[in-house]
Amino acid sequence: MSDAHENGNQRYFDAHLHVFPPRMFEAIWRWFDDLDWKVHRQTLDEILATLNAHNVIDAIVLSYAHKPGVARPLNDYMKMLGEQYPMLYPFGSVHPEDGDLDEYVREALDSPHIYGFKFQPMVQRYDVNDRRLDGFYAACQEHNFPITMHLGSAPYPCEFLGPEHFRRLMERFPELRVCVAHMGGPEYDEFLAMLDDYPNVFMDTTMIGTRTELFDNRWRGDEEALRRHAHRILFGSDWPNVPYDYQEVIDSVPRFPFAPEQRPGIYYDNARRYLRLDEG
Ligand SMILES: [Zn+2]
Repeated sequence: MSDAHENGNQRYFDAHLHVFPPRMFEAIWRWFDDLDWKVHRQTLDEILATLNAHNVIDAIVLSYAHKPGVARPLNDYMKMLGEQYPMLYPFGSVHPEDGDLDEYVREALDSPHIYGFKFQPMVQRYDVNDRRLDGFYAACQEHNFPITMHLGSAPYPCEFLGPEHFRRLMERFPELRVCVAHMGGPEYDEFLAMLDDYPNVFMDTTMIGTRTELFDNRWRGDEEALRRHAHRILFGSDWPNVPYDYQEVIDSVPRFPFAPEQRPGIYYDNARRYLRLDEG
């Protein structure tokens, strides 16, 4: 059953959409096939049509370089997306083993079409505290440039994930503007506590609370802390790499113990604040 009627004319800002160049998308889908996740194999046009059909009027588009040498061409592709589709806010990618890291980071910071960066340490195989990234973090901090990071250990724990890595990073760069993807699951409270300590830390709801058998994705944690930080929590889908309908993503938000009046912010306004779109 759809809860769409409850949301009336709500418009959505999806803070966690994925678009890759076609050949990379194909490789990622084969990886999901091996896991038996039945994700949506959609072209860019089909993705945009899905968003349109669900009143999603803006979206942060994420990509990540799975190996050295890929970030630069990927960032060029993301810039093209931002140039052609004003509703898309593309994020770039980095890899610590790239010799031209500082150079393409500067290009991304200077580009009017790159709005932040995405880290997926499990796939990219690096520690967020890799010292080769220090110059990158310093530049992001200086420009207040956001980084969306997958840091919680769900659904597949690995040595690069977990709240201790993030805490060490934030101790070193306390002003960093970071969105912790997937509510930091399953370490919900450990990541939520970081919002108390660091004013530029956000979270996105991506995949948490949706109905799926793939892993235990029920949110459980400090409900009072969740409501206290609701203005820094963003609606996200992981579309098209999810095994359910887009409506299921929308319907997952009321399953969190937010106050009802906090939902419009989660669905739309908070993503604008994360990107600082209203700050001139
Ligand atoms: Zn994702």
